[in-house]
Amino acid sequence: MPDSQIGRIHGHLHKITRKLFVITMLLAGLLIFLTLIGLLILANQAQLLTQQKDTLNQIMELRQELEPARMNPITQIPDAQPVSLGTFTVTHYCSCAICCGKSDGITATGTMATEGRTVAVDPEVIPLGSEILIDGQAYIAEDVGGAVKGRKVDIYVSSHQEAIQRGKIEREVQINKEKAPTEAATSVLGARENISPSE
Ligand SMILES: [Zn+2]
Repeated sequence: MPDSQIGRIHGHLHKITRKLFVITMLLAGLLIFLTLIGLLILANQAQLLTQQKDTLNQIMELRQELEPARMNPITQIPDAQPVSLGTFTVTHYCSCAICCGKSDGITATGTMATEGRTVAVDPEVIPLGSEILIDGQAYIAEDVGGAVKGRKVDIYVSSHQEAIQRGKIEREVQINKEKAPTEAATSVLGARENISPSE
């Protein structure tokens, strides 16, 4: 092989090597560039995740702060003063068949009639569930009665004898905590048909 031909081949190989070197460098550069972009995206996402976590934490904190308000919605004005409803006719009854037509002691709202707490009212005048005051004693309006209509309150006592003894009186009735008429308070199970002995 003549020397000139060898020289040409040499030169040719040299060119190819240089081209390969340039291509390799370009690819390496591209790889570094892509890696950098990838890292930037990851860093950005990490930052976004941190921000999301912060926002979630803030929401959870707010929810915790609001929890007591959610669990205890205001159904009456706090520290409201008792309001006088004027004079009512106050009678007394017990849970016997004579007073109630039944003797299970269960009130119209489903509670067990209790002396010192239970009174029967006209729900049109005093909403069921309200706390009322008679002679400074607090009662809950949790029963109704066929004869308890208008400005009447029938106080529950534990014996028929006591109901007769306490008789029929005129008293000022104050409303302490008026219950907003809720479904539970307005669902009357049944009015007593009989009347109190003091009526
Ligand atoms: Zn009775």
